[in-house]
Amino acid sequence: MTKSEEIFKRAKKVIPGGVNSPVRAFGSVGETPRMICQADGAYLTDEDGFRYLDFVCSWGPMILGHNHPAIYEAVVKACEKGLSYGAATRREVEMAELICSSVPNIEMIRMVNSGTEAVMSAIRAARGYTGRSKIIKFTGCYHGHSDALLVQAGSGVMTAGIPDSAGVPEGCTKDTLSAVYNDLSSVERLFEAFPEEIAALIVEPVGANMGVVPPEKGFLEGLRLLCSKFGAVLIFDEVITGFRLGFTGAQGFFQVDADLVTYGKIIGAGMPVGAYGGKREIMECVAPLGPVYQAGTLSGNPVAMAAGLAQLTILKEHPELYRELNEKGEWFYGEIRRIVERSEIPAVVNSCGSLGCIFFTKEPVRDYESAKRSDTSRYAAYFSHMLSHGIYLAPSQFEAMFLSAVHTREELAGVLELAGEFFIP
Ligand SMILES: *Cc1c(COP(=O)(O)O)cnc(C)c1O
Repeated sequence: MTKSEEIFKRAKKVIPGGVNSPVRAFGSVGETPRMICQADGAYLTDEDGFRYLDFVCSWGPMILGHNHPAIYEAVVKACEKGLSYGAATRREVEMAELICSSVPNIEMIRMVNSGTEAVMSAIRAARGYTGRSKIIKFTGCYHGHSDALLVQAGSGVMTAGIPDSAGVPEGCTKDTLSAVYNDLSSVERLFEAFPEEIAALIVEPVGANMGVVPPEKGFLEGLRLLCSKFGAVLIFDEVITGFRLGFTGAQGFFQVDADLVTYGKIIGAGMPVGAYGGKREIMECVAPLGPVYQAGTLSGNPVAMAAGLAQLTILKEHPELYRELNEKGEWFYGEIRRIVERSEIPAVVNSCGSLGCIFFTKEPVRDYESAKRSDTSRYAAYFSHMLSHGIYLAPSQFEAMFLSAVHTREELAGVLELAGEFFIP
């Protein structure tokens, strides 16, 4: 028995499923989770001393690689000054200023502790601002695990095979309407059915929790027009795309303006951070300035802010990082696509910048329905092949691959060779 297996056996006795988040379970790929004890650059090391080239990158935050020296130093320095004050700090202001001064439409921002919290709070702000109750989300988009959003919610839920979630009363989801990703007419129908009741529409500007499903041309623009027409708040859930597609996120990448934006993952550089921000008029509804209550004991935590601010500062000062990262993604996923096209195994490759995903299906994947046609047992075989060669992929068909600034072309060329072995044996 490996140490990972031994520890996982203990884990299962005291932690539900042995993991603290379902996406970490290796159940759907028929493996035992590797117990990770260290991470440096593009690599993870497990308790048995095996090293893996990491394509999960903590599900996005580690865009500069693990243990980046400047972030490490910022965190250590912050720790020396105390871990939490429960009081206002200068660094929170610097963080807010950095974002408000560089991201379009973010005039005010509030820090929270996770993406889930960011989305939950943004929706509350939108409802408070509009005085309306209903929200529209897309099937297959994930927006955290708050009650109202656990409706057709993508990856973790998909892989576990739970249609929705137990423990969510009907009352909590009765105002959540579902539309089809990349299908504007499905959105239009909902707006026409409830023209004065929809407070907000929330979307992952690049679907990244049903595998990777980029927006088709005109989709995000169409959502913008519909929200403006019907007086609904357009929320971009940029927990994955924020500071990844570019410093200005999906708004900048696709040149579409949102009213509110939610952040997580990269904004905390690996510490538990989320944020929501946007138009001043809406954000002014938030307490203590306005009537929408939202609070957090550890929000804007000084150590977490130090980590996030260090990472965002590097990203802002080095726009070439994004050019290189997106070019690297285009090349890498393009090469995988070429391999897949020569293979007898039915598969398609979706990608957007540094995010990508192989779906084991012949048909193009443009929404949740088409994503679900993927052969997950084939993905499991691919996953095991890669893992056995030291490549750590997401243990689920319905998750993205994340590239970081420190994955080299040489390392990626090695991955292409391994993919070739699988697809063209
Ligand atoms: C990860 C994620 C969330 C939830 O963030 P947590 O920090 O896990 O609560 C919300 N929205 C999207 C798009 C995500 O990818």
